[in-house]
Amino acid sequence: MTSLDDFASRKLAELDHAALRRRLIPGERRAGAVIRRDGRDFISFSCNDYLGLSQHPVVKRAAQEAVERLGAGAGASRLVTGEYPDLGLLELRLARLKRKPAALVFASGYAANIGVIPALIGRGDLILLDELAHACMHAGARLSGAEIGLFRHNDVTDLEAVLGATRGQFRHCLIATEGVFSMDGDRAPLADLSAIARRFDAWTLCDDAHGVGVLGHGAGSAGDLSADAIDLWVGTLSKALGSQGGYLCASAAVVELMRSRARSFVYSTALNPAATAAALAALTVIEAEPTRVAAPLARARQFTQAIAAQEAASAIVPVILGTAEAALHASSRLAAAGFLVVAIRPPTVPPGTARLRVAFQADHRVEDVAALAEAVAGIIRERAA
Ligand SMILES: *Cc1c(COP(=O)(O)O)cnc(C)c1O
Repeated sequence: MTSLDDFASRKLAELDHAALRRRLIPGERRAGAVIRRDGRDFISFSCNDYLGLSQHPVVKRAAQEAVERLGAGAGASRLVTGEYPDLGLLELRLARLKRKPAALVFASGYAANIGVIPALIGRGDLILLDELAHACMHAGARLSGAEIGLFRHNDVTDLEAVLGATRGQFRHCLIATEGVFSMDGDRAPLADLSAIARRFDAWTLCDDAHGVGVLGHGAGSAGDLSADAIDLWVGTLSKALGSQGGYLCASAAVVELMRSRARSFVYSTALNPAATAAALAALTVIEAEPTRVAAPLARARQFTQAIAAQEAASAIVPVILGTAEAALHASSRLAAAGFLVVAIRPPTVPPGTARLRVAFQADHRVEDVAALAEAVAGIIRERAA
């Protein structure tokens, strides 16, 4: 065995020992939130395809047509030969959605965060992250070389205290959070956060990966804020938009700076034509079909009402069960009933809060949501007994 393979094998053994090794389970996703695994069809409550747009005929056709017109790949970075008109069109549409002057598309939401954050702050600066912010925001913060501080989840009093104690020691300060938290489904207090940021001359970044398409008539968390409340909206094309890719919406100057300085933009191939066209078509569907946009939150609220939980604030509802074993057991019970609800365990969530993360889609039928709620309520009742 080479020293490299020896290293990898030892690391894998450590992961196995801690029950942290991840495994891939192949499946085929279909329309109607159906996923086929191992010859069996499940109704998935674990996809982020909140509007079912990855399977929408108009979105699929747009992708196919773009491949015929422009090819399967973009061929190079946008600064070389990868630039094509659909990208600019998509950026106009995204900027309009978020009521910002400009936008820039990246290869993924992950790439957007690790490109944007280090291009704006660095040594001598401070970044304050909500403690539950997505891994890619932490990665971007580390890449930046700025001092990293965490504030308690959605706690503006704590944020204020941290700013009061530290802001004076740093040149620039960036506050970064999510619009809708991916594992809890709760929403950040963005208006308060924005007001505090202004008081301390701090910039604000909000990753709205789970808000767009679902909240604010499709605009996401930006829907009920003033246009200048958040400086930097980051997001993904891969969730409610049913495609692939990421973006930043910001001022013209910031976006122009990113074209030269965001390394994951400059040194990475342009988004492929199929993904770009699919995202554009998805935005058109979102504008044209308000009932589709309203459906995921309505389904989530149907579910929280049926299990007597706190009313859903987004399309994501956590059912916290405690131990990893309890979450895995609940997940397999639901699988036996035909529902795919993946158990989420530490370190993705804090120890002792292993859970089912239930994600609602516009194409879930009301009767399926009711059946799922009944099954989940049964699991909760048994635990209490
Ligand atoms: C899913 C997610 C991302 C990653 O987006 P991709 O386009 O899948 O890379 C980034 N941030 C948040 C908050 C997410 O939930």
